[in-house]
Amino acid sequence: MTDVQTHTGSCHCGAVAYEVDMSLDGLIECNCSHCYRKGFVLGFVQPDAFRLTAEGAETEYRFGSHKIGHRFCQTCGVQTHARGEGPDGRPMVAVNVRTLTDIEPFSWTATRVDGRSF
Ligand SMILES: [Zn+2]
Repeated sequence: MTDVQTHTGSCHCGAVAYEVDMSLDGLIECNCSHCYRKGFVLGFVQPDAFRLTAEGAETEYRFGSHKIGHRFCQTCGVQTHARGEGPDGRPMVAVNVRTLTDIEPFSWTATRVDGRSF
């Protein structure tokens, strides 16, 4: 179990940066056509727990039902987060844990989920 802590993260070039209050429990990796290609490790938070500290360089990718805005840096291409809705319909941010800059790489564990079948 890990506590909710304020973490910092960014895209590769730093044009998109953020702070997020999150625990590193409950992380997932997914085998769907999008997550798998991008190698995401995802954690989910409420929108008020996620704060951009450098913005303006972001753009967005939507596909399928277009319900999720996949936010990525126009310069370096790294996707830091996505904005969408949770299963209960409430707004949610999915954070790409691989873009956290204040934790040791591979210090987390993630559960593999079968998103491809959904
Ligand atoms: Zn960038």
